[in-house]
Amino acid sequence: MLAHSYDFHTHSTASDGTLAPQVLIEKASEAGVKLMALTDHDSMSGYQALISSGFSADIELISGVELTCRLDKQVVHVVGLNLDAANERLYAHLLGLDRLRMERAKAIALRLHKAGLPDLLEAAIECSGGGQIGRPHFAQALLNMGLVSDQQQAFKKYLGAGKKGDVKVEWPQLASIIEIIHEAGGVSILAHPTKYNLTLNKVRYLVAQFSELGGDALEVGYPAVTADHQKSLSILVEKHQLMASGGSDFHNPDYHWTGLGRFPRVPEHLPHVLDAIR
Ligand code: AMP
Ligand code: MN
Ligand code: MN
Ligand code: MN
Repeated sequence: MLAHSYDFHTHSTASDGTLAPQVLIEKASEAGVKLMALTDHDSMSGYQALISSGFSADIELISGVELTCRLDKQVVHVVGLNLDAANERLYAHLLGLDRLRMERAKAIALRLHKAGLPDLLEAAIECSGGGQIGRPHFAQALLNMGLVSDQQQAFKKYLGAGKKGDVKVEWPQLASIIEIIHEAGGVSILAHPTKYNLTLNKVRYLVAQFSELGGDALEVGYPAVTADHQKSLSILVEKHQLMASGGSDFHNPDYHWTGLGRFPRVPEHLPHVLDAIR
């Protein structure tokens, strides 16, 4: 996978990444990244910590977030870039998501407890380290207790789609997410469109809706994307006059198949988000 000088999709301990924002940004710089966005799930606290404490890495940081939402019943992720973290509506939205995610965590713990597992809530909260809590923290708690052999297995048995710990909550609607990102002055990017377990026809529908609602860009360069996917996504970018973006979706240095700044190249003929935010 190609090493890029930009990375528009990364996670820190402010959500389900394992590196503190300060460390992440240094590692990104060491990997040759010059322009990056920290896009934690439903939180900008890592970004804000970096801005308020300052950082020594020779890197340009742009603000970012990966917002969880839904279109009908389908959960989707939208990356917002270059948004004003102080925007009131965005701020209120993120506060609401803190609450929603904590309520969901309690429901996950309860469901898994009823299924015969120990009560995992405290352990998962501890794994989240004060950041935004999610299923990966339950996976880590299960791993720490020796109940699974790795996080993948935790998802396969307990947390993945259709399993007991895959608790549905009323995630915000895609329409409002795009609106909020725009109100905060940002660019909205549909994250990893081929990673929702949808048929290509459903991906086309999702992108059409996203575009109809005012969405700006599609992620086209991301680790799991195949050449065939990229062709289909490129056609959709052009058809709906969107832009394209790319990022590593980096979470953890132990995942040796991922790396900061490493992801398949975004086809050069597509308008790139890079050019819209600089
Ligand atoms: P949540 O935001 O709580 O729904 O958790 C979603 C996160 O879990 C994703 O952003 C991934 O980081 C992680 N994840 C999802 N599916 C898997 C899987 N099968 N194996 C490992 N991690 C996963
Ligand atoms: Mn994640
Ligand atoms: Mn995602
Ligand atoms: Mn992500």
